Amino acid sequence: MKYIFLSFLCCLGCWTLGQEKEKPIFPTDSLYELPQLFFHDNDTIIKWIEAGAKYEISSLYTTGFQDTVLRLEQRFHIPLTKALTYEKEQDIMSQEYDGVEQFVAISDIHGQYETFVELLEQHGVIDRQLNWIYGKGHLMINGDILDRGAGVTETLWLVFKLQQQAHEQGGKVHYTIGNHELMVLDNDLRYIHKKYTAGQDILGESYHAQFSNQSFFGQWMRQNPVMVKINRTGFVHAGISPVVIERGLTPKDINRLFIDSIYTQEKDTYRKSEKLNFLARTHGPVWYRGYFKDDDLTETDIEKMLQWWNVDRIVVGHTSQKAIITLFGGSVVAIDSSVKYGDRGEVLIYEKGAFFRGFFKWQTRTP
Ligand code: ZN
Repeated sequence: MKYIFLSFLCCLGCWTLGQEKEKPIFPTDSLYELPQLFFHDNDTIIKWIEAGAKYEISSLYTTGFQDTVLRLEQRFHIPLTKALTYEKEQDIMSQEYDGVEQFVAISDIHGQYETFVELLEQHGVIDRQLNWIYGKGHLMINGDILDRGAGVTETLWLVFKLQQQAHEQGGKVHYTIGNHELMVLDNDLRYIHKKYTAGQDILGESYHAQFSNQSFFGQWMRQNPVMVKINRTGFVHAGISPVVIERGLTPKDINRLFIDSIYTQEKDTYRKSEKLNFLARTHGPVWYRGYFKDDDLTETDIEKMLQWWNVDRIVVGHTSQKAIITLFGGSVVAIDSSVKYGDRGEVLIYEKGAFFRGFFKWQTRTP
């Protein structure tokens, strides 16, 4: 009898543990979320979460709105005033930069804010206070800040802040759009961290709305290109398939089609266009994986692609590796070094005409 009773208790324990395990809900009383900006008609609303509770101020209904914005800015160390007065860049289509003496490139951060900060600090892009110290250097974020991890908002605010600081010093921060940015813009929320699933209810804004055209992040993100060229190096999140070139599209066309048509329309609408549907899917620049698995891809295809873009190499993320690797004799550099796991990752460094792998933490930098 004793034995049966113990078995019963044991089963009950297993059952209870099983139930615990399946609980998908984020512990909301420990949920914090940095302020986000929403624009409705002539009202600007700032919403954030502390210890699971929503806080909100509105430019129409909060007395001393500007003073409150300044206080929030100091408290959370985020450039709210800059975000409120942010103006679109004039020429966002061509995206070609020459004479850049040094740059650092990273890809597929996927909400791993701490790892991102560590890597930038260890390689001299920012100081301990998270300020730009890279002078006229360029920082390239090659897509996929969004999804998977819990530090997406922190990363986006830091990237925006560094963009502003770099600009003041003659440097530049680029952020090309990856497939995970496009998925969220398209309301495909399969990969968002459970923190953001829980945060939607508290904020009263769906995750999709947090990146809509009526939000600061949504407006800012839609300003970002898909392809950027620095000196003789091309950057794109996933890659350029031979089909893109066969279709007679140019890099400028691709940026224009994404910025003017894909970002601005609902998924169901733009996918009706054969050209836009092609660009936003498997053989398009934010999804293509051909360099890593397409046996039909030849050296000649790669050579054609480099000529088409007028570059010596292209740098891609998207397809995860253990470290930065080169393919096709250095013509393709794959830099998604699995930052998404949070305890690893590398940056690509260009200085004095040479490329280096920048390691994480305990390792030292070698060519
Ligand atoms: Zn990707």
